[in-house]
Amino acid sequence: MFGVYGVVAIRLASQSAPINETAMTNKKSSTPRRPRPADNAFKGETIRGGVNEPTYGGALSFMRRHYAKSAAGADLAIWGVPFDAATSNRPGTRFGPRAIRAASAILEGDPQYPWGFDPFAKLSAVDVGDCSLDYGNHDEVPREIEKQAKEILATGATLLTLGGDHFVTYPLLKAHAAKHGPLALVQFDAHQDTWHPEAGRIDHGSFVARAAIEGLIDVKHSIQIGIRTHAPATHDIEIVHGNAVETLGVAAVAKKILKRVGKKKAYLSFDIDALDPAFAPGTGTPVAGGLTSREALMMLRLLAPINFVGFDVMEVSPPYDQSEITAIAAAHVAMHFVSLVAMRRGTK
Ligand code: MN
Ligand code: MN
Repeated sequence: MFGVYGVVAIRLASQSAPINETAMTNKKSSTPRRPRPADNAFKGETIRGGVNEPTYGGALSFMRRHYAKSAAGADLAIWGVPFDAATSNRPGTRFGPRAIRAASAILEGDPQYPWGFDPFAKLSAVDVGDCSLDYGNHDEVPREIEKQAKEILATGATLLTLGGDHFVTYPLLKAHAAKHGPLALVQFDAHQDTWHPEAGRIDHGSFVARAAIEGLIDVKHSIQIGIRTHAPATHDIEIVHGNAVETLGVAAVAKKILKRVGKKKAYLSFDIDALDPAFAPGTGTPVAGGLTSREALMMLRLLAPINFVGFDVMEVSPPYDQSEITAIAAAHVAMHFVSLVAMRRGTK
């Protein structure tokens, strides 16, 4: 017992030993000591590698990535779609991309838990800003999102989108399916999103039905996790209800997802209301009895064998958030997406 405390004491002593700050910050000792590089979103010298900046200042791109006009030359593009006019209850997700970017500043520059590596050491990634939309012309919104998503995908980069309400996933699926064919949908959500799929409606509760009817997704390889509401149709998509995550456990649920998707190309859509309102209060249609953020993040990591070609995290509504709880959870979900891409594409 005494020996154990002794080891702890030695470790603490070594951690508080004097640090050679000059060696850690700059090779040229004449350069003033400051975090390097200042404001990486604009001034960083490369689109690879972690940086260490204060979390509270500078341009808050997603995880301090470069802001770029184009995703050309990058493995991964992070993009916001600040649209919330399709929500059935509480609005506010138009502020989601900005909040997730700000929350993500606490994550940059270090090996990410539990992956154990800095994904940007394996992967080049840029933040391409937000989708440009006319708030006064809703009829154009689906086409605009699809068109701008296609422009990003044409560069060869994998697209990670920050929402926005869940309607946004419909034009995103159109853009991805145009490139890859029908995709296996892996959807974390409290809702099936299969209501009122009539063509032309702009509704955050209908994108799955629309995608199934139009053949954008391959329903036989699609699966929804965390569902805890009833909807009129499943479209033959496999469902893992919220309660089943508790009774089966995360490893068994992850196994179900891997089995369902198989070798199909897949799209991963994470509605933040998959999490319990305790872990994601800032969302449009919260439902009690949901996943913990630990359960969700553990499952995401176990999905590394899947060939995901696109990702989104949706329904973060900052006006209903408290202490950035929801935005921080969403930033961690998105960081796990980045790490999944790094595992697969990180070859350079
Ligand atoms: Mn939902
Ligand atoms: Mn949804």
